[in-house]
Amino acid sequence: MRADTWVFATDERQWAGMLAAVDGLGGRVTAAVVGSRELADAVAATGPDAVLWVEPPPDAPAEAFAPALAAAAEQARPRVLVSTADPAARALLGSACGRLGAALIPGMIDMAAQGDEVIVRRWAIGGEVAETYAVAGPIAAVFAGEDVESAPGRAAEVATLDVPPTDMSVVRSVPTTVATGVNDAARVVAFGRGVQAKGDMALIERLAAALGAEVACSMPIADDLHWMDKARYIGRSGQHIAPALYLAIGIAGAPQHMEGVRDARIVVAINNDPGAPVFRLCPAHVYTEEPDGTLSVAHAACMECGTCLAVAAPGSLTWHYPRGGFGVAFREG
Ligand code: SF4
Repeated sequence: MRADTWVFATDERQWAGMLAAVDGLGGRVTAAVVGSRELADAVAATGPDAVLWVEPPPDAPAEAFAPALAAAAEQARPRVLVSTADPAARALLGSACGRLGAALIPGMIDMAAQGDEVIVRRWAIGGEVAETYAVAGPIAAVFAGEDVESAPGRAAEVATLDVPPTDMSVVRSVPTTVATGVNDAARVVAFGRGVQAKGDMALIERLAAALGAEVACSMPIADDLHWMDKARYIGRSGQHIAPALYLAIGIAGAPQHMEGVRDARIVVAINNDPGAPVFRLCPAHVYTEEPDGTLSVAHAACMECGTCLAVAAPGSLTWHYPRGGFGVAFREG
């Protein structure tokens, strides 16, 4: 079976990863883009079969086109709808999902067509588990997998979709958080409750300045102690960052914190507790040190995150993605 797909893109993040994630569906891929012409052209160059472009007027949010795009999707009746995690793209997806009566799956990593079903792999339990679903009917999914470098291929034609927005407009735009630079920083020095005196923050700040890094923190530092602005805390409900270097000082490494640095290239932890979770790099606890010092490997639990491969000394670990990219598959029902 081939599953025709509509994808929704409204900003300049994730769409290349999203298009790669639906590649295994084999059907016709239509990209509905609400945004600049540059964005529509960039999406078109990445390999969908068609691009429908809506240019919103300056005072109309992308969400204003949700009803019109949902109506267009209803006419086309794709089997699969997918959006990036951008809130506006999710609003477009939700509207089309309702029209098509599709099953909604957030946290999608990738998908493929298999027989009459669409197989969807998605994150669950805050990213600690990868679940695999088999869906028989129409499906809508929010992409949460790895973004990829866009690989220009045959450029699709960009067709302008001249549809009216609903009667809504942006009347005011006021920043609600301090612009910190943490999100885009190549290096981040973060600290947690292991730093016990507020005065020691000066040391952290000096270290960050020497490294050309931004300073960040764990949630309790911002939420409970109010030592730093909330815009600087890293974790599930805070910032999700992808620096080249993340230096974690006095941070235990709870899963909800580590979720915020899942995309960091190198994580260096300083902690006087050798058993702190931050030192367990594998989120699935695949590796266990036996009493005799040898390592046992429970490979069936591997979630294919690639962390061990990224941090292992060159040549010390051989690791291949499973064929088909699905790894361990759990079926519901
Ligand atoms: S890729 Fe490595 S770190 Fe990631 S889950 Fe598998 S074994 Fe653990």
